[in-house]
Amino acid sequence: MKKIIDLRSDTVTKPTDAMREAMARAEVGDDVYGEDPTINRLEALAAEMLGKEAAVFAPSGTQSNLIGVLAHCQRGDEYIVGQHAHTYKYEGGGAAVLGSIQPQPIDLEPDGSLDLDKVARAVKPDDFHFARTRLLCLENTHRGMALPMDYLARAEAFARDCGLSIHLDGARVFNAAVKLGVPVSDIARHFDSVSICLSKGLGAPVGSLLCASQSLVKEARRWRKVLGGGMRQAGVLAAAGIIALEQHVERLAEDHANAARLAGGLSDIDGISVDRAAVQTNMVFASMSGEIVDRLVEFLAGRGILILGGKMLGGPTIRIVTHLDVTSEDIDILAAAIREFFDKEA
Ligand SMILES: *Cc1c(COP(=O)(O)O)cnc(C)c1O
Repeated sequence: MKKIIDLRSDTVTKPTDAMREAMARAEVGDDVYGEDPTINRLEALAAEMLGKEAAVFAPSGTQSNLIGVLAHCQRGDEYIVGQHAHTYKYEGGGAAVLGSIQPQPIDLEPDGSLDLDKVARAVKPDDFHFARTRLLCLENTHRGMALPMDYLARAEAFARDCGLSIHLDGARVFNAAVKLGVPVSDIARHFDSVSICLSKGLGAPVGSLLCASQSLVKEARRWRKVLGGGMRQAGVLAAAGIIALEQHVERLAEDHANAARLAGGLSDIDGISVDRAAVQTNMVFASMSGEIVDRLVEFLAGRGILILGGKMLGGPTIRIVTHLDVTSEDIDILAAAIREFFDKEA
């Protein structure tokens, strides 16, 4: 069977042989009673890597963000978040739907940060007309861009000044750490809580963790149960997650090199435009004229190459994400196919 090259997302990776073996052998117990030794090991490992007191394993990043927001905020509170941030736009409005917590979205800057002056103007005075502003949520990486370390320090100082808690949607925070050449704890120390995803570039089939203080994690664990996220003998999943954290962090650099290689390969094709400076980790966004996008996506699918484009991204843009199951040869095949499309078809 011809290999499908799937670049729609880094969520599409399949567990490696080492993961499948570890999953088959995993020691398990009832995690709702705190008795799954493999989950306990994963939670301790994640907490240690992030430099936090504790961590709680959740089935998805959507849930680890939600239990974080629910743990920080009460009914009638508010969190400030990017207009195109995952925790606002792509999580079904969970905090509002399930927690009566109001989001206050703010336009993101081109680098994925929130302008702290704009945030300051959105913080509500203590007055019963307003929701209580409680929490600032950032995302790192956003569209593959790592937030600068000095920005993190300023955002933290700002949040402390305003009496806000600060949460990081760190679904891809390991990509940011590898890109910046810092331990992930250097990023995490600026936040009260950080969610991480094991099933993105780190290659595990399932799983996410919320890392924070003991007391916040205790509260989040309660919300996890309420949301139906108490998963019993889920050590079979955690076993893959341990391999993801222990063995798949450093190698993210290969995904970043592949993305940069692709951005270079696309940059001299007429009809397609790539902002190479924005290609910092494992994502490449490229734009082209509107009517071409859908045809390009279809042309590549005919070659067994899957990417996201058009309707899914709300514009004449394609998104290509590199990951564990993508080789540099795959990238060259993709770049050649796109070149051929623009030479012949566009
Ligand atoms: C993928 C992702 C999440 C979590 O998504 P799930 O599919 O629920 O695991 C959260 N934030 C960002 C930025 C993401 O890319």
